Amino acid sequence: MRLVTFKDARGTRIGALDGAGQVLDLVAADPALPRDMLGLIAGGPAALAAARAAADSAPVAEGATLLAPIPRPAKNIFCVGKNYHEHAKEFASSGFDATAKEVVPEAPVVFTKPPTSVIGPHDPIPSYLDSSNSTDYEGEIAVVIGKPGRGIPAAEAHAHIFGYTIVNDVTARTLQHKHRQWILGKGIDGFCPMGPAIVTADAAGMPPRLAISTWVNGELRQRAAIDDLIFGIPTLIATISAAITLEPGDIIATGTPAGVGIGFTPPRFLKPGDTVRIEVPGIGVLENPVA
Ligand code: ZN
Repeated sequence: MRLVTFKDARGTRIGALDGAGQVLDLVAADPALPRDMLGLIAGGPAALAAARAAADSAPVAEGATLLAPIPRPAKNIFCVGKNYHEHAKEFASSGFDATAKEVVPEAPVVFTKPPTSVIGPHDPIPSYLDSSNSTDYEGEIAVVIGKPGRGIPAAEAHAHIFGYTIVNDVTARTLQHKHRQWILGKGIDGFCPMGPAIVTADAAGMPPRLAISTWVNGELRQRAAIDDLIFGIPTLIATISAAITLEPGDIIATGTPAGVGIGFTPPRFLKPGDTVRIEVPGIGVLENPVA
């Protein structure tokens, strides 16, 4: 099942996408369902089963506008840097990496983006907030946590995954380099487009069969399969949860493949009027204009 958050004249609530991509109004079919995604995820298997049952009889929500599936995460979004081999190389040779000498990291490079960075499908990416004019895209597959836990062993990580979505880890490269720590370059308001949907873990397969492609103005820039990750999803969950409790609805963006703007010589940064389109078959298309 593909779950979404949408708004219409009657407010904001959860929905599901049907085979044609139309939004099904789950709460209209079952008023007892939570109206928000964090509530649904926290409800565990029983709430998900109720949502699944509601989808069978839910009406199409006419005039629905999709928001990020989790419009306001409860805590910062976890992200992983340099987690595909070819991207680690292009980042090292770009001169924008101020963090380390080695090309391929010895352990996952984890940083976060604040909840205020999240925007939804088709929302403009505010590159005008990047005073350094070095805004770059990073198409990424993100994991959404279901069952909470701390000290989760990699072998049990799959039981804690609710589903998967798409994140664009938009980055102001000059700020990322200048401040060493990445949050100022990656935490800017609107620099975390997310969506369009969360595909539930059962629908994505175990391990998930997911591949990601990114286009800028129709030109293919990134393409990779999740199997290409240096540190796989079970390792990321084990690493982050070692001493930080992961909670329902927490998000881990798993890293970006090669093909970002700084991978080109000279760098090809985003500019107002550009469009970034990221597709993961099974999840959908996350497309945002640049403002
Ligand atoms: Zn990233």
